[in-house]
Amino acid sequence: MGPWAGEKLSQNLYSGPNAIFPGIESVKVLVLGAGVVGVATAYYLARAGHEVTVVDRQPGPAVETSFANGGQISANHATPWATPKTPWKALKWLWRKDAPLLFRMRADPALWRWTLRFLANCTSHRLLLNTERAVRVAVYSRAQLVELRAATGIQYDQLTSGILHIFRNELEYRQALPQVEVMDRAGCRRVLVNAGECVDIEPALAHVRPHLIGGIFSPDDESGDAHAFTVELARICADLGVTFRYGTTVQRIVLGDGRLDGVETDAGRLTADIYVLTLGSYAPLILKSLGLKVPVYPAKGYSVTIPVGDDDQAPSVSLIDDEFKIVYSRLNDRLRVAGTAEFTGYDDSVTEVRARFVLDKAMELFPNCGDRSKAEFWAGLRPSTPDGVPVIGATPYPNLFLNTGHGTLGWTMACGAGHLLADVIGGRAPEISLDGLGMDRFG
Ligand SMILES: Cc1cc2nc3c(=O)[nH]c(=O)nc-3n(C[C@H](O)[C@H](O)[C@H](O)COP(=O)(O)OP(=O)(O)OC[C@H]3O[C@@H](n4cnc5c(N)ncnc54)[C@H](O)[C@@H]3O)c2cc1C
Repeated sequence: MGPWAGEKLSQNLYSGPNAIFPGIESVKVLVLGAGVVGVATAYYLARAGHEVTVVDRQPGPAVETSFANGGQISANHATPWATPKTPWKALKWLWRKDAPLLFRMRADPALWRWTLRFLANCTSHRLLLNTERAVRVAVYSRAQLVELRAATGIQYDQLTSGILHIFRNELEYRQALPQVEVMDRAGCRRVLVNAGECVDIEPALAHVRPHLIGGIFSPDDESGDAHAFTVELARICADLGVTFRYGTTVQRIVLGDGRLDGVETDAGRLTADIYVLTLGSYAPLILKSLGLKVPVYPAKGYSVTIPVGDDDQAPSVSLIDDEFKIVYSRLNDRLRVAGTAEFTGYDDSVTEVRARFVLDKAMELFPNCGDRSKAEFWAGLRPSTPDGVPVIGATPYPNLFLNTGHGTLGWTMACGAGHLLADVIGGRAPEISLDGLGMDRFG
């Protein structure tokens, strides 16, 4: 029998103190990828006493997808993209260059396979199941972030004033309400507010008050700069003894007798006891050589960062504008606006029309928030799974672990996912269930 042996991978690991290396407290761990997920994983591993090295092809941490995301810690809005309505909306948007979600079918078997799995998740039953799983990780993660902040004093332009989801379409608002119940059951605090209350929460919305239908406010959610956080956390990790090897590209995994023997990089072979893949969208490319198929596919998104001119004209509460699926986060004297998703493979170049769509929508909502000519454009590749749930845990190889596929919520989930994986590797029972989070759910 193979290593799967019909067992749940997530469950055959933490059956005692360090089940992987019985009796050994500290192991040598190689974390592949220094995005927000990789650095958070390294932090919790180092705190647990392991000898950690982080490898990344970039010259520093959080240079790829974790660089300029929407900034939201949106645990109470952690709903997957795959809903019963999404296929119809995607069809409607198919011909629009400014569509919030853009499927361009390409001759890419990985995209076709991903899309079929995505469609299979667009049922009410799967939506409930996937929402529970995503919210479980996201809520746990937000609590870990709060704890980490208290323990380290880390600063990253954070704001702890909640997230307000605003609606301008009556039907969309009504259809969103059952989700509030699901979230309630998952322990999320979400408050239904009318248009006037939306303006009370965020006064910069006053001039669009007549167009607002209402909103959903989650007071416990947060926002902050994921790049600043990761850079600072990497510094804290270095103080804890973590080694960072930047400018080092992982080329392939070296397999020994049923386990990993090392990774081949452009700077030579690196070895460890345990390997953790936190390569975001690129994880499947490296896993392919092992014959492991994990349905993580890049979903390209855009952000614009506008220097704030008039303080009162820019929002100070993080927002989700349901009409255009765009998020807003105030990062001190900058306003970060992010949105759109398109499936164009691994191309992360900025397409002018898509980036301008985000900027135009921001300037329509907050016309006097800042100087649009100084806005900075950015595009990144969300490592997306078809069910909107990350892939955290073991693989059929006993010394290889995954922490990827966090999609739209990698910043929200980074601390929780890092903590969970460090617990699994250390042989400690995780504080939340890992059910439905492993790669074994894909069969
Ligand atoms: C427009 C946009 C808005 C978003 N908004 C939010 C938000 O508001 N809230 C939220 O929670 N999430 C948001 N996200 C999602 C979030 O940014 C991602 O989920 C998260 O950054 C993923 O982190 P990661 O560490 O897994 O991946 P990455 O940050 O991409 O890290 C992977 C690392 O692996 C390295 N790497 C890859 N291949 C190799 C190789 N072969 N050798 C060596 N190194 C390699 C890369 O250099 C990179 O540093 C947004 C994403 C986008 C695009």
